[in-house]
Amino acid sequence: MKKLLSIILAALCAAVLASCGESTEESGGYSILTSFNPIYALTLRITDGAENVSVQNMAAPSTGCLHDYQLTTSDMMKLSEADIFIINGGGMESFMEKAMAASSGLNVLNSSDGIEMLPSSGGHDGGEYNSHVWLSIDNAKKQAENIRDGLTEANPENSAVYEQNTADFLNELTQLDNEYRSALGGVSGKVISFHEGIIYLLGDYGIEVEEIIETEPGVSPDPATLANIIEDVKTSGIQVIFTEPQYPDSTAQVISRETGAEIYTLDPLVTGDMSRDSYVTIMRENLDVILSALK
Ligand SMILES: [Zn+2]
Repeated sequence: MKKLLSIILAALCAAVLASCGESTEESGGYSILTSFNPIYALTLRITDGAENVSVQNMAAPSTGCLHDYQLTTSDMMKLSEADIFIINGGGMESFMEKAMAASSGLNVLNSSDGIEMLPSSGGHDGGEYNSHVWLSIDNAKKQAENIRDGLTEANPENSAVYEQNTADFLNELTQLDNEYRSALGGVSGKVISFHEGIIYLLGDYGIEVEEIIETEPGVSPDPATLANIIEDVKTSGIQVIFTEPQYPDSTAQVISRETGAEIYTLDPLVTGDMSRDSYVTIMRENLDVILSALK
């Protein structure tokens, strides 16, 4: 069924692209489409002030990670109108790989090109790799550079803007990374998390994620699994559970009640309205949360 669906999508994609491919040229501007929120935030930062450029995001800001995403007709229209489609890569957009392959004219910029990904912990996120690379500040820098390079090649009129914005952004990220390092130096501890993306963020600063609790939104783990998690938390002496605003925390509350571990919320930047400063602002808020959880 899944296979059939992607074949249909690929055909639909090709048809839409063939019929509407002219529309951006008519409007005259350079049209950038991003796949979802983190990539949208990075792209807004890099394109800020660029002339005659529009940036649109494909997935709604309430969608979250794209693991279970279904391509809509409106997405197909956006794709057909875009001059370039900027993705996270690493399997995050796997639901539309066939559609992208079928649309031969589509310029796809893979922002995680050259980034070494951690293996996936499995569960609801599926896929071979943990593709939530943007949550490592170091990786976000590489993604920014990839976006800069791809846009410079595709839209050279604005190359000076992309160059300057990226240079400024990389400085901000270095500063942010320094803040993390000095704030979290000497801080250690084991935590559990509801999302494997957090491994990138915490791993950079030596904080170990003992367990990833993979739950579908609204679906709790079965009683045996839950009992095992509770046992693990008790024997490892874990005192912190990181949840995300995008998922319900009823399971976390059960674990917290049974073990005394406290719940804190980290934002992986996958939902909410993004602005050019969202990446730095949200990551700085995350640092405050990590500090209050682990100090
Ligand atoms: Zn995810």
